[in-house]
Amino acid sequence: MIFFIIYSIIIFAPCEKRRVTFILNQDSIDYYLKLKNKINIFQILTIAIILIVGVILVKFKPAYAVTLGEEEIGFVNNRTELQSIIDNDILTTDDETVAFVTLDDVNYSFQFVDRNLINDNTVITKIKESSRNIYSVYEVSDGNDDDSVYVNTLQEAEELVNNLKNSYSAISPNLAITTLYLEEPVTDEAISNAKAKIAESLNAQLAEKKQRDKRTVNGIYLACLPLKSGTISSRYGSVESVRDHVHQGLDLAANYGSPIVAVADGTVKFAGANSGYGNLVIIDHGNGVETYYGHCSSITTTVGTKVSAGDTIAKVGSTGNSTGNHLHFEIRINGSPVNPQRYIY
Ligand SMILES: [Zn+2]
Repeated sequence: MIFFIIYSIIIFAPCEKRRVTFILNQDSIDYYLKLKNKINIFQILTIAIILIVGVILVKFKPAYAVTLGEEEIGFVNNRTELQSIIDNDILTTDDETVAFVTLDDVNYSFQFVDRNLINDNTVITKIKESSRNIYSVYEVSDGNDDDSVYVNTLQEAEELVNNLKNSYSAISPNLAITTLYLEEPVTDEAISNAKAKIAESLNAQLAEKKQRDKRTVNGIYLACLPLKSGTISSRYGSVESVRDHVHQGLDLAANYGSPIVAVADGTVKFAGANSGYGNLVIIDHGNGVETYYGHCSSITTTVGTKVSAGDTIAKVGSTGNSTGNHLHFEIRINGSPVNPQRYIY
């Protein structure tokens, strides 16, 4: 404003002086009159521009439009001051449970703005309201995402891992701690539910491990039962009139023709008739472990065949020294029969 007033004084002051200087000369008078008319128009225009600019400067002023994320949230006078408040006040916290405070990107653009729209405090309030606390949370996982437990401190996570490793040392659970950043801390209820769930999962693994241990003969895992369904009709060690020696296997009564499967991976060592055993299959599983399947009605494998647990090798019958359809199942370690019920059934 002041600039325009000074400017107009500089423009008009010499004109007033010239009016006196050239008044004696007629040509000069004509020239001057024309010039005067021109100056009058120039003066009016200049005054008008000064007034317009004056009005604009009264109503508007330069300021910074502030954008938070995608949204324009208002106008501030001082960009540096606002940025300082954001850095030192809004984005820092004394709350030790908070890992850090996050905020969408703040951007500024320089504009002429209606003075009434400039309000630093409103902008600061809006930015404060949109800031979010981020909490560090520790995930304890056994590798299965469904069983993860989230706790709020690293100490809690480490204690949980130690407790679980002690309680489930038999299965050596593979537990890992991962740090995550979430907008909410974990509630006690969620922690307790998750702990129950991971315990359930580890209990299942423990039960499976126990079953697997039970079913392991000299390092060979018996993955299958030899029959899908069969009823024990004579146990290992029983003395019965049908034979002249102590029973060396487990008899499982089943329907004629029921499939008999290999209980573990191995190689067929014998497949054919064998006196009292009738039709017999012997599978060598390695580590000195062999399984015998006797009294078969038919044999569906041959010597030397590599079989997998669950492969059908024969059918139930009553060949050899037998009084009814059944499977005589025998396990031998280094040639000596052992009680199959130590491992299965
Ligand atoms: Zn038998």
